[in-house]
Amino acid sequence: MKTDTLYSHLECLMCKNTYDADQVNSYCPECTQPLVARYNLKKGLSKEVLKDRPLNMWRYKEVLPLKESQHIVCLGEGMTPLTEADHLGSELGVRRLQIKNEEGNPTGSFKARGLSMAVSKAYELGISEFCIPTAGNAGSALSAYTAKMKGVAHVFMPEATPEVFQIDCEIMGAKVRKINGTIKDAGAAMAQENQDGKWWDVTTLKEPFRLEGKKTMGYEIAEQLNWQLPDVIIYPTGGGTGLIGIWKAFQEMKELGWVDSIPTRMVAVQTTGCNPVVEAFNQGLDHTGVYENPAVTIANGLRVPKAFGDRLIMSTLYESNGYALDCSDDEIREALSICARQEGLFLSPEGAAVVKAAFKLKDSGFIKNSDHVVLLNTGSAYKYVENL
Ligand SMILES: *Cc1c(COP(=O)(O)O)cnc(C)c1O
Ligand SMILES: [Zn+2]
Repeated sequence: MKTDTLYSHLECLMCKNTYDADQVNSYCPECTQPLVARYNLKKGLSKEVLKDRPLNMWRYKEVLPLKESQHIVCLGEGMTPLTEADHLGSELGVRRLQIKNEEGNPTGSFKARGLSMAVSKAYELGISEFCIPTAGNAGSALSAYTAKMKGVAHVFMPEATPEVFQIDCEIMGAKVRKINGTIKDAGAAMAQENQDGKWWDVTTLKEPFRLEGKKTMGYEIAEQLNWQLPDVIIYPTGGGTGLIGIWKAFQEMKELGWVDSIPTRMVAVQTTGCNPVVEAFNQGLDHTGVYENPAVTIANGLRVPKAFGDRLIMSTLYESNGYALDCSDDEIREALSICARQEGLFLSPEGAAVVKAAFKLKDSGFIKNSDHVVLLNTGSAYKYVENL
Protein backbone atom coordinates (compact mmCIF):
# COMPACT_ATOMS: atom_id res chain seq x y z
CA MET A 1 0.00 0.00 0.00
CA LYS A 2 1.14 3.52 -0.82
CA THR A 3 1.69 5.86 2.10
CA ASP A 4 0.55 8.84 -0.05
CA THR A 5 3.65 10.65 1.08
CA LEU A 6 4.25 14.20 -0.17
CA TYR A 7 8.01 13.55 -0.03
CA SER A 8 9.72 15.01 -3.10
CA HIS A 9 13.49 15.39 -2.71
CA LEU A 10 16.47 16.06 -0.46
CA GLU A 11 18.06 19.48 -0.18
CA CYS A 12 21.34 20.86 1.12
CA LEU A 13 20.56 24.03 3.04
CA MET A 14 24.05 25.40 2.37
CA CYS A 15 24.42 25.16 -1.44
CA LYS A 16 20.70 24.49 -2.18
CA ASN A 17 21.63 21.52 -4.37
CA THR A 18 18.85 18.98 -4.56
CA TYR A 19 19.22 15.24 -4.46
CA ASP A 20 17.05 12.38 -5.63
CA ALA A 21 14.52 11.22 -3.04
CA ASP A 22 15.07 7.57 -3.86
CA GLN A 23 18.80 7.37 -4.02
CA VAL A 24 20.83 6.34 -1.01
CA ASN A 25 22.12 9.64 0.34
CA SER A 26 24.08 10.59 3.41
CA TYR A 27 25.08 14.29 3.52
CA CYS A 28 25.92 16.88 0.86
CA PRO A 29 29.22 15.86 -0.74
CA GLU A 30 29.90 19.47 -1.83
CA CYS A 31 29.57 21.12 1.60
CA THR A 32 29.75 18.23 4.08
CA GLN A 33 26.46 19.53 5.53
CA PRO A 34 23.21 17.68 6.36
CA LEU A 35 20.54 17.05 3.75
CA VAL A 36 16.93 17.65 4.68
CA ALA A 37 13.79 16.08 3.23
CA ARG A 38 11.40 18.35 1.33
CA TYR A 39 7.72 17.74 0.60
CA ASN A 40 5.15 18.97 -1.91
CA LEU A 41 3.29 20.82 0.81
CA LYS A 42 1.63 23.09 -1.78
CA LYS A 43 -0.45 20.10 -2.83
CA GLY A 44 -2.17 20.53 0.51
CA LEU A 45 -3.32 18.05 3.12
CA SER A 46 -6.26 18.31 5.47
CA LYS A 47 -5.54 17.54 9.10
CA GLU A 48 -8.84 15.65 9.08
CA VAL A 49 -6.85 12.70 7.68
CA LEU A 50 -5.51 12.15 11.21
CA LYS A 51 -8.94 11.27 12.60
CA ASP A 52 -8.83 7.49 12.45
CA ARG A 53 -5.10 7.01 12.45
CA PRO A 54 -3.11 4.72 14.78
CA LEU A 55 -1.71 6.32 17.94
CA ASN A 56 1.92 6.26 16.88
CA MET A 57 4.15 8.55 14.82
CA TRP A 58 3.15 6.91 11.54
CA ARG A 59 -0.17 8.76 11.76
CA TYR A 60 1.75 11.59 10.02
CA LYS A 61 2.77 9.34 7.11
CA GLU A 62 2.09 11.91 4.37
CA VAL A 63 4.84 14.13 5.81
CA LEU A 64 7.31 11.28 6.34
CA PRO A 65 9.63 10.10 3.56
CA LEU A 66 8.47 6.49 3.23
CA LYS A 67 6.62 5.47 0.03
CA GLU A 68 5.20 2.03 0.81
CA SER A 69 3.57 1.20 4.12
CA GLN A 70 4.79 -2.41 4.14
CA HIS A 71 8.28 -0.99 4.81
CA ILE A 72 7.24 0.56 8.13
CA VAL A 73 9.28 -0.92 10.98
CA CYS A 74 7.10 0.01 13.95
CA LEU A 75 7.37 -0.82 17.64
CA GLY A 76 4.69 1.66 18.73
CA GLU A 77 6.86 4.82 18.85
CA GLY A 78 5.31 8.24 19.37
CA MET A 79 2.04 9.70 20.69
CA THR A 80 3.64 10.15 24.08
CA PRO A 81 1.81 12.11 26.77
CA LEU A 82 1.98 15.89 27.05
CA THR A 83 1.56 15.99 30.81
CA GLU A 84 0.41 19.03 32.81
CA ALA A 85 3.09 19.99 35.35
CA ASP A 86 0.86 22.33 37.31
CA HIS A 87 2.68 22.22 40.65
CA LEU A 88 6.01 22.93 39.04
CA GLY A 89 4.29 25.50 36.81
CA SER A 90 2.96 27.52 39.71
CA GLU A 91 6.33 27.39 41.45
CA LEU A 92 7.91 28.59 38.22
CA GLY A 93 5.19 31.22 37.83
CA VAL A 94 3.96 30.65 34.27
CA ARG A 95 0.52 30.46 32.68
CA ARG A 96 0.92 26.81 31.74
CA LEU A 97 3.74 24.27 32.07
CA GLN A 98 3.71 20.89 30.34
CA ILE A 99 6.19 18.08 29.95
CA LYS A 100 6.31 16.14 26.68
CA ASN A 101 7.32 12.85 28.23
CA GLU A 102 9.22 10.61 25.84
CA GLU A 103 10.20 7.93 28.37
CA GLY A 104 7.46 5.54 27.25
CA ASN A 105 8.86 5.08 23.74
CA PRO A 106 10.29 1.68 22.72
CA THR A 107 13.74 1.25 24.39
CA GLY A 108 12.91 4.16 26.70
CA SER A 109 13.73 7.29 24.73
CA PHE A 110 12.76 9.55 21.85
CA LYS A 111 15.62 8.05 19.83
CA ALA A 112 13.01 5.44 18.86
CA ARG A 113 11.29 7.95 16.57
CA GLY A 114 14.38 8.75 14.54
CA LEU A 115 15.57 5.19 14.24
CA SER A 116 12.15 3.79 13.38
CA MET A 117 12.14 6.24 10.47
CA ALA A 118 15.77 5.69 9.38
CA VAL A 119 15.55 1.89 9.55
CA SER A 120 12.21 1.88 7.71
CA LYS A 121 13.58 4.05 4.91
CA ALA A 122 16.73 1.94 4.73
CA TYR A 123 14.53 -1.15 4.40
CA GLU A 124 12.73 0.54 1.51
CA LEU A 125 16.08 1.37 -0.12
CA GLY A 126 17.31 -2.21 0.31
CA ILE A 127 19.82 -1.57 3.12
CA SER A 128 20.07 -3.82 6.18
CA GLU A 129 23.46 -3.27 7.87
CA PHE A 130 24.00 -0.16 9.99
CA CYS A 131 26.55 1.52 12.22
CA ILE A 132 26.16 4.24 14.85
CA PRO A 133 28.18 6.06 17.50
CA THR A 134 26.03 6.57 20.60
CA ALA A 135 25.85 7.93 24.13
CA GLY A 136 23.47 5.03 24.81
CA ASN A 137 19.87 5.57 23.75
CA ALA A 138 20.46 5.78 20.00
CA GLY A 139 22.33 2.48 20.13
CA SER A 140 19.47 0.78 21.97
CA ALA A 141 16.92 2.13 19.52
CA LEU A 142 18.94 1.16 16.44
CA SER A 143 19.42 -2.34 17.88
CA ALA A 144 15.69 -2.76 18.45
CA TYR A 145 14.54 -1.61 15.00
CA THR A 146 17.34 -3.54 13.31
CA ALA A 147 16.26 -6.69 15.15
CA LYS A 148 12.69 -6.15 14.00
CA MET A 149 13.70 -5.73 10.35
CA LYS A 150 16.20 -8.62 10.61
CA GLY A 151 19.22 -6.48 9.85
CA VAL A 152 22.59 -6.02 11.56
CA ALA A 153 23.64 -3.15 13.85
CA HIS A 154 27.20 -2.14 14.81
CA VAL A 155 27.14 0.11 17.88
CA PHE A 156 30.10 2.19 19.12
CA MET A 157 29.77 3.67 22.62
CA PRO A 158 32.06 5.56 25.03
CA GLU A 159 33.39 3.61 28.03
CA ALA A 160 31.47 6.00 30.31
CA THR A 161 28.09 4.80 29.00
CA PRO A 162 25.84 3.14 31.63
CA GLU A 163 26.08 -0.67 31.53
CA VAL A 164 22.41 -1.17 30.69
CA PHE A 165 22.82 0.25 27.19
CA GLN A 166 25.36 -2.38 26.22
CA ILE A 167 23.13 -5.14 27.62
CA ASP A 168 20.18 -3.64 25.78
CA CYS A 169 22.01 -3.61 22.43
CA GLU A 170 23.54 -7.05 22.80
CA ILE A 171 20.33 -8.76 23.86
CA MET A 172 18.80 -7.53 20.60
CA GLY A 173 21.67 -8.96 18.63
CA ALA A 174 23.77 -5.85 17.93
CA LYS A 175 27.56 -5.91 17.85
CA VAL A 176 28.86 -3.46 20.47
CA ARG A 177 32.33 -1.85 20.79
CA LYS A 178 33.22 0.23 23.87
CA ILE A 179 35.54 3.13 22.99
CA ASN A 180 37.85 5.15 25.21
CA GLY A 181 36.70 8.81 24.99
CA THR A 182 33.56 10.66 23.90
CA ILE A 183 30.91 9.98 21.28
CA LYS A 184 33.17 11.85 18.84
CA ASP A 185 35.96 9.32 19.49
CA ALA A 186 33.42 6.52 19.10
CA GLY A 187 32.49 8.04 15.72
CA ALA A 188 36.15 8.15 14.69
CA ALA A 189 36.70 4.49 15.68
CA MET A 190 33.60 3.59 13.71
CA ALA A 191 34.75 5.50 10.60
CA GLN A 192 38.02 3.58 10.80
CA GLU A 193 36.20 0.26 10.62
CA ASN A 194 33.79 1.47 7.97
CA GLN A 195 36.26 2.98 5.50
CA ASP A 196 34.79 1.03 2.63
CA GLY A 197 31.27 2.18 3.56
CA LYS A 198 29.91 -1.34 3.89
CA TRP A 199 27.60 -0.27 6.69
CA TRP A 200 25.02 2.52 6.45
CA ASP A 201 26.18 5.25 8.82
CA VAL A 202 23.21 6.57 10.82
CA THR A 203 25.21 9.10 12.86
CA THR A 204 22.97 12.04 13.87
CA LEU A 205 22.25 14.11 10.73
CA LYS A 206 24.79 12.27 8.57
CA GLU A 207 21.73 10.73 6.99
CA PRO A 208 18.50 12.69 6.46
CA PHE A 209 15.82 10.41 7.92
CA ARG A 210 16.31 10.30 11.70
CA LEU A 211 15.44 14.00 11.64
CA GLU A 212 12.12 13.19 9.96
CA GLY A 213 11.21 10.76 12.73
CA LYS A 214 12.19 13.23 15.43
CA LYS A 215 10.13 15.99 13.86
CA THR A 216 6.96 14.06 14.69
CA MET A 217 7.37 15.44 18.23
CA GLY A 218 6.52 18.82 16.73
CA TYR A 219 3.42 17.49 14.95
CA GLU A 220 2.29 15.75 18.12
CA ILE A 221 2.77 18.75 20.39
CA ALA A 222 0.66 20.79 17.94
CA GLU A 223 -2.06 18.15 17.66
CA GLN A 224 -2.18 17.63 21.43
CA LEU A 225 -2.57 21.40 21.91
CA ASN A 226 -5.33 21.59 19.32
CA TRP A 227 -2.98 23.38 16.89
CA GLN A 228 -2.10 26.27 19.23
CA LEU A 229 1.68 26.20 19.61
CA PRO A 230 3.33 27.03 22.96
CA ASP A 231 5.42 30.17 23.61
CA VAL A 232 8.59 28.35 24.66
CA ILE A 233 9.98 24.85 24.08
CA ILE A 234 13.06 23.79 26.04
CA TYR A 235 15.12 20.92 24.66
CA PRO A 236 18.24 19.08 25.94
CA THR A 237 20.63 19.43 23.01
CA GLY A 238 23.34 16.99 22.01
CA GLY A 239 23.30 16.40 18.26
CA GLY A 240 20.24 18.66 18.04
CA THR A 241 17.87 16.55 15.93
CA GLY A 242 14.88 17.08 18.19
CA LEU A 243 15.34 20.83 18.33
CA ILE A 244 15.81 21.12 14.57
CA GLY A 245 13.05 18.59 13.89
CA ILE A 246 10.39 20.28 16.03
CA TRP A 247 11.15 23.61 14.34
CA LYS A 248 11.00 21.96 10.90
CA ALA A 249 7.62 20.43 11.77
CA PHE A 250 6.27 23.84 12.77
CA GLN A 251 7.36 25.38 9.44
CA GLU A 252 5.75 22.52 7.52
CA MET A 253 2.49 22.82 9.47
CA LYS A 254 2.40 26.56 8.79
CA GLU A 255 2.77 25.87 5.08
CA LEU A 256 0.01 23.25 5.27
CA GLY A 257 -2.22 25.69 7.12
CA TRP A 258 -2.42 23.38 10.15
CA VAL A 259 -1.24 26.20 12.45
CA ASP A 260 -1.88 29.92 11.98
CA SER A 261 1.26 31.25 13.62
CA ILE A 262 4.48 30.07 15.24
CA PRO A 263 5.00 32.04 18.46
CA THR A 264 7.46 29.45 19.81
CA ARG A 265 10.95 30.37 21.01
CA MET A 266 13.22 27.30 20.92
CA VAL A 267 15.74 26.87 23.77
CA ALA A 268 18.78 24.56 23.77
CA VAL A 269 20.11 23.23 27.09
CA GLN A 270 23.58 21.72 27.53
CA THR A 271 25.89 20.89 30.45
CA THR A 272 28.54 23.26 31.81
CA GLY A 273 31.24 20.68 31.03
CA CYS A 274 30.31 20.45 27.32
CA ASN A 275 28.47 23.47 25.93
CA PRO A 276 29.60 24.20 22.36
CA VAL A 277 26.13 25.48 21.38
CA VAL A 278 25.97 27.86 24.35
CA GLU A 279 29.42 29.26 23.54
CA ALA A 280 28.49 29.81 19.90
CA PHE A 281 25.16 31.40 20.86
CA ASN A 282 26.83 33.83 23.26
CA GLN A 283 29.18 34.89 20.46
CA GLY A 284 26.41 35.11 17.87
CA LEU A 285 28.09 32.53 15.61
CA ASP A 286 26.33 30.50 12.92
CA HIS A 287 28.30 27.34 13.75
CA THR A 288 29.94 25.84 16.83
CA GLY A 289 33.53 24.96 17.61
CA VAL A 290 34.72 21.56 18.78
CA TYR A 291 34.48 21.47 22.58
CA GLU A 292 37.84 20.29 23.92
CA ASN A 293 38.01 17.80 26.81
CA PRO A 294 34.28 17.55 27.57
CA ALA A 295 33.59 16.59 31.18
CA VAL A 296 31.87 13.32 32.03
CA THR A 297 28.28 14.11 33.04
CA ILE A 298 25.27 12.21 34.37
CA ALA A 299 23.41 13.48 31.29
CA ASN A 300 25.22 11.22 28.81
CA GLY A 301 23.11 12.30 25.85
CA LEU A 302 24.44 15.86 26.12
CA ARG A 303 28.14 15.01 25.95
CA VAL A 304 28.54 15.89 22.27
CA PRO A 305 31.66 18.02 21.61
CA LYS A 306 30.58 18.97 18.09
CA ALA A 307 27.25 18.29 16.40
CA PHE A 308 27.30 17.54 12.66
CA GLY A 309 24.15 19.66 12.36
CA ASP A 310 25.60 22.60 14.32
CA ARG A 311 24.54 25.17 11.69
CA LEU A 312 20.95 23.97 11.78
CA ILE A 313 20.94 24.13 15.59
CA MET A 314 22.19 27.71 15.54
CA SER A 315 19.79 28.87 12.82
CA THR A 316 16.85 27.32 14.72
CA LEU A 317 17.81 29.27 17.85
CA TYR A 318 18.16 32.57 15.95
CA GLU A 319 15.09 32.20 13.72
CA SER A 320 12.88 31.41 16.70
CA ASN A 321 14.31 34.19 18.92
CA GLY A 322 15.39 31.39 21.19
CA TYR A 323 18.20 30.94 23.65
CA ALA A 324 20.97 28.56 24.77
CA LEU A 325 22.15 27.90 28.32
CA ASP A 326 23.79 25.21 30.42
CA CYS A 327 23.42 23.44 33.78
CA SER A 328 25.88 21.67 36.07
CA ASP A 329 25.42 18.08 37.24
CA ASP A 330 24.57 19.41 40.73
CA GLU A 331 21.82 21.55 39.26
CA ILE A 332 20.53 18.57 37.27
CA ARG A 333 20.34 16.43 40.43
CA GLU A 334 18.53 19.21 42.28
CA ALA A 335 15.95 19.67 39.51
CA LEU A 336 15.50 15.91 39.20
CA SER A 337 14.52 15.67 42.82
CA ILE A 338 12.25 18.73 42.71
CA CYS A 339 10.33 17.42 39.72
CA ALA A 340 10.01 13.95 41.24
CA ARG A 341 8.54 15.32 44.48
CA GLN A 342 6.30 17.92 42.87
CA GLU A 343 5.04 16.02 39.85
CA GLY A 344 5.69 12.35 40.52
CA LEU A 345 7.87 12.26 37.44
CA PHE A 346 11.32 10.68 37.62
CA LEU A 347 13.03 12.40 34.69
CA SER A 348 16.14 11.42 32.79
CA PRO A 349 19.12 13.66 33.68
CA GLU A 350 18.71 15.34 30.28
CA GLY A 351 15.06 16.10 31.07
CA ALA A 352 16.00 17.40 34.52
CA ALA A 353 18.51 19.79 32.92
CA VAL A 354 15.58 21.28 31.03
CA VAL A 355 13.61 21.81 34.27
CA LYS A 356 16.54 23.65 35.81
CA ALA A 357 16.91 25.74 32.66
CA ALA A 358 13.25 26.81 32.90
CA PHE A 359 13.87 28.25 36.38
CA LYS A 360 16.99 30.07 35.21
CA LEU A 361 15.13 31.52 32.22
CA LYS A 362 12.31 32.71 34.46
CA ASP A 363 14.83 34.45 36.74
CA SER A 364 16.48 36.14 33.76
CA GLY A 365 13.13 37.32 32.35
CA PHE A 366 13.34 35.29 29.12
CA ILE A 367 10.27 33.35 30.29
CA LYS A 368 7.34 35.54 31.31
CA ASN A 369 4.36 34.89 33.62
CA SER A 370 2.04 34.80 30.62
CA ASP A 371 4.02 32.11 28.80
CA HIS A 372 2.91 28.59 27.97
CA VAL A 373 6.07 26.47 28.30
CA VAL A 374 6.70 22.90 27.09
CA LEU A 375 9.67 20.94 28.46
CA LEU A 376 11.06 17.82 26.78
CA ASN A 377 11.83 14.79 28.89
CA THR A 378 13.71 12.85 26.26
CA GLY A 379 14.24 9.54 28.01
CA SER A 380 13.63 7.18 30.90
CA ALA A 381 15.40 7.68 34.23
CA TYR A 382 15.57 3.94 34.74
CA LYS A 383 18.43 3.57 32.28
CA TYR A 384 20.54 5.97 34.34
CA VAL A 385 20.24 4.50 37.84
CA GLU A 386 23.96 3.85 38.05
CA ASN A 387 24.58 7.58 37.37
CA LEU A 388 22.22 8.60 40.15
C1 LIG B 1 20.33 11.64 22.47
C2 LIG B 1 19.68 12.22 23.66
C3 LIG B 1 19.56 13.62 23.82
C4 LIG B 1 20.10 14.59 22.79
O1 LIG B 1 19.35 14.52 21.63
P1 LIG B 1 19.82 15.19 20.27
O2 LIG B 1 18.68 15.05 19.35
O3 LIG B 1 21.04 14.44 19.85
O4 LIG B 1 20.15 16.59 20.58
C5 LIG B 1 18.86 14.10 24.90
N1 LIG B 1 18.34 13.27 25.83
C6 LIG B 1 18.45 11.93 25.74
C7 LIG B 1 17.85 11.07 26.80
C8 LIG B 1 19.12 11.36 24.65
O5 LIG B 1 19.21 10.04 24.53
ZN1 LIG C 1 25.65 21.44 -0.18
